[in-house]
Amino acid sequence: MSRLDYSIGRLKTSRACIDHAVAEVGGLPGPILELGLGNGRTFDHLRESLPGRDIFVFELEIAAHPDCIPDDDHLLLGDIKDTLPLAVARFAGQAPLFHADVGSFDHAINAAIAAQIEPFVPQLMRPDGLVVTSVAFPNLQPYPLPAGAIPDTYFMYRPIPA
Ligand code: SAM
Repeated sequence: MSRLDYSIGRLKTSRACIDHAVAEVGGLPGPILELGLGNGRTFDHLRESLPGRDIFVFELEIAAHPDCIPDDDHLLLGDIKDTLPLAVARFAGQAPLFHADVGSFDHAINAAIAAQIEPFVPQLMRPDGLVVTSVAFPNLQPYPLPAGAIPDTYFMYRPIPA
């Protein structure tokens, strides 16, 4: 599979997983958490899919399209090693949907950042919520991907130990 085909498949899978999670848990109350603003593509998709909801975005450094930058009240700017503990104090057990897109093509880096994020997920989320992520969380309970999703390009979990 070419890099282009892989990238297209991964993006389509990310959208399918986000849409699936929105359909499953979008009706539950609580803050939506978006880890990794990047260009703002998935943030924009989430806010279009969940109008009027509070979406809090974690990002190290803003480099998004100007139309896709959350307001200051919804931005947790800084390294997740600092912002995730602060978020737990604020959102403990409340989030129904957590989307994390912080991966790269480097599997070692992905595993390291996943290990940083994973312990905070059950602390931040409602147990009946859903996690959608570009990096695998080996200690959370896997949730079936929607039809057509390409396995191992994106992952879904319940925020409870496997
Ligand atoms: N979902 C985004 C989109 O659709 O445009 C793409 C996100 S991009 C792949 C990953 C983002 O995660 C980058 O903007 C990067 O700055 C951010 N990031 C990576 N490591 C981080 C860290 N330790 N703390 C906070 N943000 C981080």
